[in-house]
Amino acid sequence: MFAEILTIGDELLTGNTVDSNSAFIAQKLTERGYWVRRKTTVGDDVEEIKAVVREILARKPEVLVISGGLGPTHDDVTMLAVAKALGKDFVLCEECLERIKAFYRELYEKGLIDDPELNEARKKMAYLPEGAEPLENTEGAAPGAYIEHEGVKIFVLPGMPREMKAMLEREVLPRLGEGKFIQRKLLAEITDESKLAPVLIEALKRFRVRIHSSPKGFGKYIGIIIFGESEGEIERAKAFMESRGIKFEEGW
Ligand code: ATP
Ligand code: MG
Repeated sequence: MFAEILTIGDELLTGNTVDSNSAFIAQKLTERGYWVRRKTTVGDDVEEIKAVVREILARKPEVLVISGGLGPTHDDVTMLAVAKALGKDFVLCEECLERIKAFYRELYEKGLIDDPELNEARKKMAYLPEGAEPLENTEGAAPGAYIEHEGVKIFVLPGMPREMKAMLEREVLPRLGEGKFIQRKLLAEITDESKLAPVLIEALKRFRVRIHSSPKGFGKYIGIIIFGESEGEIERAKAFMESRGIKFEEGW
């Protein structure tokens, strides 16, 4: 199962904001058994977003998670760009509008904002690509969207990490399969990664696992992570590497 992640925001490209969202999404998708094959970042530009969404869809991932640019300001153009990329109309979601109204009324009643009324900027967040299912934002105003397009499950989530995380847990993960990847971190008692390399290659050929190695510097241990669909397969890969003379400690 293969997945891609697209994060959107000029602040990510200038380096003013570190793209922690894609790391969080990647971790969750990996735990669910997806292989995240690419992460892409683009700025808040309709044409750029449209083009990159089309490129990603042409690679036919099972899942595409997009984050950022759903807010009320002029530079939040993600939903419009996704609609254009899919050749869909951009339509008002009445249910979303009601939620947005209620959201601002509640903030007003709490004394956090001084105007509860809908204005154009707030209303803008209620537009989704035609046929999209709105995803509830429990932490903010802008709804997300779920679209199934030619076999690709597309999720459009907000950029604020708190909002994105809540929506991912509540709305995205339940719509994904029950697959899982287990990961086991091991420390190999070996001082030079090149000694480990041929053993890893053989293990990868024999077992249904993925292995990442993280050298900790020469003369020290090498951390490896084995990803697999079952504990059994991970254990067999580990035992095989041990039989080739690699000693392991658990964890790092
Ligand atoms: P909102 O409805 O909250 O405005 P939004 O989708 O418009 O959502 P953005 O304008 O993209 O959100 O970003 C809101 C905040 O979240 C900004 O402070 C931004 O730096 C931060 N943010 C956006 N994308 C990421 C990311 N990929 N990683 C970490 N922080 C991010
Ligand atoms: Mg933004």
